[in-house]
Amino acid sequence: MAKKEFKSESKRLLDLMINSIYTNKDIFLRELISNASDALDKLYYRSLTDENVKVNKDDLMINLAFDEKKRTITISDTGCGMTKEELENNLGTIAKSGSLNFKENMNKEEKVNIIGQFGVGFYSAFMVSDKITVTSRSIDSDEAYVWESEGADGYTIEKSKKKNVGVGTEIVLHIKADTDEEDYSKYLNEYELKSLVKKYSDYISFPIKMECTHHELKDEEKHEYEDHKCVETLNSMIPIWRKDKKDVEDSDYENFYMDKFNDYDKPIKVISSSVEGMCSYKALLFIPSHAPYDYYTQDYEKGLSLYANGVLIMERCGDLLPDYFSFVKGVVDTEDLSLNISREILQESHSLKLIAKNIESKIRKELEDMLLNDRENYESFFKTFSVQLKYGVYNNYGADKEKLENLIMFYSSKKQKLITLKEYVENMKEGQDTIYYASGSSIAKIDSLPQVEQVKDKDYDILYLTEYVDQFAITAIQEYEGKKFINVESEDLNLESEEEKESTKKVNEDNSDLLTAMKDEIKEVSEVKFTNKLKNHPVCLTSKGDVSIEMQKVFDAMPNDMGIKAQMILEINEKHPIAQKLKDLYAGDKDEFIKYTKILYAEARMIAGLPVDNPTEISTLVCEVISK
Ligand code: ADP
Repeated sequence: MAKKEFKSESKRLLDLMINSIYTNKDIFLRELISNASDALDKLYYRSLTDENVKVNKDDLMINLAFDEKKRTITISDTGCGMTKEELENNLGTIAKSGSLNFKENMNKEEKVNIIGQFGVGFYSAFMVSDKITVTSRSIDSDEAYVWESEGADGYTIEKSKKKNVGVGTEIVLHIKADTDEEDYSKYLNEYELKSLVKKYSDYISFPIKMECTHHELKDEEKHEYEDHKCVETLNSMIPIWRKDKKDVEDSDYENFYMDKFNDYDKPIKVISSSVEGMCSYKALLFIPSHAPYDYYTQDYEKGLSLYANGVLIMERCGDLLPDYFSFVKGVVDTEDLSLNISREILQESHSLKLIAKNIESKIRKELEDMLLNDRENYESFFKTFSVQLKYGVYNNYGADKEKLENLIMFYSSKKQKLITLKEYVENMKEGQDTIYYASGSSIAKIDSLPQVEQVKDKDYDILYLTEYVDQFAITAIQEYEGKKFINVESEDLNLESEEEKESTKKVNEDNSDLLTAMKDEIKEVSEVKFTNKLKNHPVCLTSKGDVSIEMQKVFDAMPNDMGIKAQMILEINEKHPIAQKLKDLYAGDKDEFIKYTKILYAEARMIAGLPVDNPTEISTLVCEVISK
C-alpha cells in the first residue's frame, strides 16, 4: 500500500520529536489520555444534543495496557472516534495550529518553546515509539480504519480487517529499544504507568483502567504469595477544580494548566474560587506567564472551558471573560446550567452573566492583590499584558476605566521604574496639581525631549508613555483622584512665573511680523512663537487641543487616513542664540531667513519623531549654511 507523506511542516516537527528535543518524554502518556478524554467528552455531549446517539455513561472509559514482551503500550477509549478523513486530517498534519515557522538559526530551546505552543499532542508519542498504530471507528461510520506510521517518512491508512470494532479509538505504541542514554523499557512497567497517570491525569473525569497484578498472601505460614490480576481505576476522577484547595499541590495546578492549555511554562498566577449563593460555581483560572503565540492576532479566541456539573459543554466560552482579561485561561464548572443548553440560550442565560460578572471581579481583585503583595510578579505580568489592560481602559468610551485604572502602570522619570497612578499622586510635590506625562517611542527618546527638561527642572515626576495605546488610555481616564493629566508636549504647561509670562508675551508682540513670516512658510503649524521654557534646546513642537502629536502618529499609521491632525505650534527658545540670528536675518536677508525657518522646522519635527517630508531639500540647505 502506498505510503502517504506527512505535510512538510508536520514532517519537520516529527523529525524534532523523534530526535527528542523534549527532555520530558513522560508527557506522551498524558497527551494521549487527554485526547481520549476529549473524545469521550465529545461523544457524551453529542448524546445530549443528538437523539440518534445513545450513550451509556458507564461505557465511557479509557483503557491502558502494556505488553513487556511485544514492547507495546495500548491506550484505547470509547469516545467519538475518527472517520478515515479525520484520521488523515488530524494525524497527517498539525496544520490546525497554523504554520510552524522554524528559523534556521533558532536554538533547540526556542524550537521547544514553539512546539510547546502548538500542543504537540499526539506526535509526542513518537518520542518513545518507533511505530504507532491507530485503529479508530467514528460514531458516524460503520467502518474502522487503521492509521500506521513509523515516523517522519510517512503513514498509511487502510480499512481495518477486524470485524465488529466498536466506536472509539485504540492507539498501540511500539516502544523504542533502549539506548545508552535512554531507558524506554521503563514505560513497560505497571508501577511506572500507574504513577504517570496519577501524576498527570488524575483529574480526568473518565475512568482510566488497567489490569494490575497484586501479590496476595496465599499461605501465611509458608509465606507463599499468589499473583492475582484485577482491573483497577488508576485516577481519582475528581476534577482538580472540585478538589479542596488544601489537598492540591501548586505543582498539580501547574501541571494541569500546562497539559490542558498546551503551555510549556507554568502560569504566573493560579486563581481558584468556589462560589455558593446567587450563583454556584467552581472556577480554576490561570494567568499565563507569557502571551500565547497568536495572542495579538485575529485568530486568538478568548474564553474559559465551561462545564455543567462536571460535563464539558463548551470548550471556549467567550462570554465568561471581558476582552481586557482575554489572556486568562481556565475552567468554570457550575450547577446552574443544564447540560443540553443550546449555545444561543447559553449566551442569554442570566446565570452565565452572573458568573461572568463574578469572575471578572475575582480576577481584578487577584491582580490588585498581586500588585500590592507580589510586585515583581505583577510587573512581569504587566509587561506581558499591559497593552490589553490599557486597551480596556479606553475601549467602549472608557466604560471600564474605573475598574482598570489601578492596574495600569507607567514608567516614572523620577523613580526610573514602573509606578501606578496612585503612587504618582501620593508622591506629588506640594503645589503640584496635575499629572505630567510625555510620549515617545522609547524611554531614552522621551528623556531627551526638550519639553521634558523644564518639568524635570521643577522637580515634578513625569510618566513616560511608550506604547501607542498609552495616550488613548490616559485621555480616556481624563483625571485621577481629581488630578488632571497634562502632556508636557502641550503648549501651556503653566510652569512660568507671571514676570516670565509677561516678558515672553512682549517678545512675541515685538516680533509679530517675523513670526507671521515663519508661519506663512510652514503651513502645517498653527502658530510660531518664542518661549522661554526650552533651556538649551533651540526649538520644539507642541500641540494644542485634544489630539497630541503622538496620537497623530497613530492616526497617520492607520490604513484609512481620517485626516485627524494635531494642532501644532513651533516654539523657538528666545534665550538661544538662534533667536537673535533669526531677528538679524529677518531684518537683513529674507531669503536666508526662509532657509533657516525650513531647517528649524525640520529639526523640530525630527525631535518630535515626525517624518521630514523634504529630506533632500533640508540636507542641501543645511550643507549650504554650514559651508559658509
Ligand atoms: P490536539 O489534541 O492539540 O488537537 P493532537 O495532535 O493531540 O492535537 O490531536 C489532533 C486531533 O486528533 C485532535 O484534535 C482530535 O480531533 C483527534 N484525536 C486525537 N486523538 C483522538 C482520540 N483518541 N479520539 C478521537 N479523536 C482524536
